Amino acid sequence: MRKFLLAMVLVLSFALPSWAGPALIINGALYPNAQTIEQDGMVYVPVQPTAEAIGYEVGFEDGAVKIWQQLKEPQIIGDSHFQEVVGQAIGLLRENEPVSYVNLCQYVDTIELSEQQGRDGHNNGGRQVYLTRELYDSDRFIPVYVAATIVHETVHAMQFGWGFNRVMTENALEYEAYGHDINILTQLNAPQWMIDGIVTSQNKYKPN
Ligand SMILES: [Zn+2]
Repeated sequence: MRKFLLAMVLVLSFALPSWAGPALIINGALYPNAQTIEQDGMVYVPVQPTAEAIGYEVGFEDGAVKIWQQLKEPQIIGDSHFQEVVGQAIGLLRENEPVSYVNLCQYVDTIELSEQQGRDGHNNGGRQVYLTRELYDSDRFIPVYVAATIVHETVHAMQFGWGFNRVMTENALEYEAYGHDINILTQLNAPQWMIDGIVTSQNKYKPN
């Protein structure tokens, strides 16, 4: 999608000649009213319908065409206290960790309170993150720690999304994810005991 966007060329309406170019089809849908131009080996397409069709917004402001990606925060599934704390955790990322926030919006659809035992996790290959009742009931269920946990599971979702799970060992995947936890906790000024706990967990997965 990014490569396609880079290849896309802006066309302003006053620059359009009266002749029409090739049909514009985006994700299988024909845009019959879209004016395209084929000229000097280049195809020019109107930026607005094209960008909007692939999830971007377009604006014309201060003499510039601005294109930005629509971000959709994950849906939070659980009781009201769960929703409140997870919402605050996402807010911390939105305000302090824009890269992690964008990744979260791009790779995770839902964050859910899970009644299953075991580790917090994500649906391998999927876009769901699960936080356990064990975390919910612990003194770590505060926005800063939940933010780090969400980032950890987002990293796993990205590892699967990019196929790193096929070329990296389980330990290397975990080591990398815990590294992001530590960064987030440090950036958000988490208490030292919390950071130390994650460092201990990370060391269990240290690749040889
Ligand atoms: Zn993990």
